[in-house]
Amino acid sequence: MRVYNTLTKNKEEFQPLIPGKVSMYVCGPTVYNLIHIGNARPMIVFDTVRRYMEHKGYEVNYVSNFTDVDDKIIKKAIEEGVSAEEISQRYITECKKDMADMNVKPATTHPLATQEIDGMIDMISALIEKGYAYPAEDGTVYFRTRKFKEYGKLSHKNLDDLQGGNRSLLVSGEEQKEDPLDFVLWKPKKEGEPSWPSPWCDGRPGWHIECSVMSKKYLGEEIDIHAGGEDLIFPHHENEIAQSECCNDKTFARYWLHNAFLNIDNRKMSKSLGNFFTVREISEKYDLQVLRFFMLSAHYRSPLNFSAELMEASKNGLDRIVNAVENLKFLEGNASGDAMTAEEVAKAAQLSEFEKKFDEAMDDDFNTADAITAIFELVKYANTNVDGTSTKAFVDAVKDKIIALSDILGLIVEKAEEILDADIEKLIEERQAARKERNFARADEIRDILLAKGIILKDTREGVKWERA
Ligand code: AMP
Ligand code: ZN
Repeated sequence: MRVYNTLTKNKEEFQPLIPGKVSMYVCGPTVYNLIHIGNARPMIVFDTVRRYMEHKGYEVNYVSNFTDVDDKIIKKAIEEGVSAEEISQRYITECKKDMADMNVKPATTHPLATQEIDGMIDMISALIEKGYAYPAEDGTVYFRTRKFKEYGKLSHKNLDDLQGGNRSLLVSGEEQKEDPLDFVLWKPKKEGEPSWPSPWCDGRPGWHIECSVMSKKYLGEEIDIHAGGEDLIFPHHENEIAQSECCNDKTFARYWLHNAFLNIDNRKMSKSLGNFFTVREISEKYDLQVLRFFMLSAHYRSPLNFSAELMEASKNGLDRIVNAVENLKFLEGNASGDAMTAEEVAKAAQLSEFEKKFDEAMDDDFNTADAITAIFELVKYANTNVDGTSTKAFVDAVKDKIIALSDILGLIVEKAEEILDADIEKLIEERQAARKERNFARADEIRDILLAKGIILKDTREGVKWERA
């Protein structure tokens, strides 16, 4: 498996630190609003990377934080007259709902910055002790950027260019910094803001230190993969490297993966530009599987332009796969239970070719666009090779392969089975009969079957009533 590493600007063979295991950290959203579909791109893309690694047999420890202390959260809290915590908790809940609807798996751990303040104070203290950081008079703590000789290695920037691009300290009002390149690790609180005590002042952490600390706590000092959107390369990830490597004297992350932007009218989609759609808005018009399909139809390192036409094309693309699976299910229902014919055995042997093509695409830096093409070819194969004369064994083999490959991409291609009113009534009658025979195990089992299908039973004086959850 080859992955493109922003650090070396090369595709490299992936070698985990511990055979069979992958540690992966993905910078998560700042939670002050519903997430937009730009934020959804790294979620879907890196969830797919994780799923593919799991398909390859790796055990993936996947950590993705929520930044729950930030100027924007505080501003929103003041606007609404509620606490910052209320805002962040509300949008974490909403974000998790969107993630579930996009079939993004929950991370192994979703740490919250505000729960990790002690670790941040420890890391900042260690950096001060080692001479990599210093507190200013007002209690702000800065990182001494120039002291880290490798600063700029991720973004391939040179310190002198950075210096040239910086305003003078006097103009920027940051005269307490030793050097314009220094960045904040801890800042003093302002009136009405959430704050924590620290050796330097009551205040709150800078954004970059949060990820260095959460990555270390949940994954260790050296990890396999660190990922996020390409806007995070500089300064966020560059600063994370500086903090972590100076504190731990270890390589922070071996592979750095960055997704390109989701654009709209060829401009970056962002909250500040106001040109965004929330995931929730899209969900009003489409099943979010369509959004997932849309995101995966391009390579993650290519810019992707959002448009109504492309969403329609994605819907049609996904429908083609879903319809093929529906058709195979129908054929399966009527097919003979005989063993595969010799001809079918020969045809079924071709199925592994599609999987090979799929894996080759994914092994080449997660080329999901080509992986989807391999699924389409499999659908075409199904439509030409399976018909009413096929055996159930053959129909199943083809159907299972389409579902399995789609599942690696996190695409759900089976229609949810609707339970009909008549079936519900039948099961309820069976449950009543079971109860009469004092077969309570069976009666409970039926209640659970119905519950799993979203049907709630109520025993009333007039008999059993039911409703859909
Ligand atoms: P934020 O909440 O702005 O910190 O962003 C959370 C994640 O979404 C980061 O990994 C960003 O790089 C990513 N992101 C934000 N906007 C876009 C976009 N338009 N396209 C792709 N990724 C984005
Ligand atoms: Zn981060």
